[in-house]
Amino acid sequence: MKRIYDMLVIGGGPGGYTAALYAARAGLSVAVLEKLSAGGQMALTDTVDNYPGFPEGIDGFSLGENMQLQAERFGAETVLTEVLELDLSPAEKAVRTSDGMFWGKTVVFATGASPRPLGLPNEDFFTGRGLHYCAACDGMRYKGKTVAVIGGGDSAVADALSLARIAEKVIIVHRRDTLRATKVYHQTLLDAPNVEFRWNSEVAELLGQGKLAGIKLKHVQTGEESELDLDGVFVSIGREPATALAKGQLELDERDYIVAGENTATSLPGVYAVGDVRTKALRQIVTAVSDGAYAAHEAEHYLAGQ
Ligand code: NAP
Repeated sequence: MKRIYDMLVIGGGPGGYTAALYAARAGLSVAVLEKLSAGGQMALTDTVDNYPGFPEGIDGFSLGENMQLQAERFGAETVLTEVLELDLSPAEKAVRTSDGMFWGKTVVFATGASPRPLGLPNEDFFTGRGLHYCAACDGMRYKGKTVAVIGGGDSAVADALSLARIAEKVIIVHRRDTLRATKVYHQTLLDAPNVEFRWNSEVAELLGQGKLAGIKLKHVQTGEESELDLDGVFVSIGREPATALAKGQLELDERDYIVAGENTATSLPGVYAVGDVRTKALRQIVTAVSDGAYAAHEAEHYLAGQ
């Protein structure tokens, strides 16, 4: 029998499960369609120290599982399946998955975004072992230590400035001879006493046994190689939102994020975007859960008007 949910949530990260929690508590029928396991990117984080309510921090995997259990306590269902195709325009939105068709009166996009990797061998191995993609999440581990930030955009510069307040020394490694970041940051960085630059340099190799101990750099013009001893490395070379399924159906910005404001409403009625996948200034767990609550609130109003 064809079952039509009040809400289908695509992606089981913090934004998705918060939307499910709020919607289920409001009496809506909800299914979360998740490919792997709860938590999204958060599940890959060893210790989450900046989500309020956990004075000792909590590992991201457990936090994701807790969010799932909390939403399920109020009736939200989790379906482990891969979403293959969507038709978001009709009032009954159709979602084709590896396990068959699902229909929803509303759809919440919570598919997230992943940090762009350097693409080096051993990158997966060193991730969390000295190699990181989120300064706000993992920077505190490097109090008084020496770290590098890879990249030259606004994110890299913002990461370098926040790390400079924690670490003893921050080295920005950039493949060009000038920053792409907004000009206003340049002088602040150049003035910072503990920030150094390695211009025209690419990371050629990640060095270390068991844990990252440094990087091999290659000068992009001369090909000359050099090594840096480091306690940690933060990769900040952009992010890739998971929006392939939304292309052609929802308005995306020039970087492929779903265009949606604070109320998470997208260009299509009844479709909401929450968490890292939507256009926003700060991509954090707390902002994702805030989006989730907002999406459920908006969906309730939309359904009431149907
Ligand atoms: P971005 O602007 O695309 O910058 C990415 C940086 O990484 C560039 O410097 C790029 O080098 C470098 N890069 C890309 N691929 C690389 C690779 N494979 N190896 C080495 N370096 C590589 O990305 P973003 O900094 O994440 O910013 C994304 C958006 O968010 C931007 O619109 C930005 O303005 C915005 N943002 C704003 C703020 C703020 O307003 N405070 C803070 C953060 C982000 P090239 O320069 O050579 O291309």
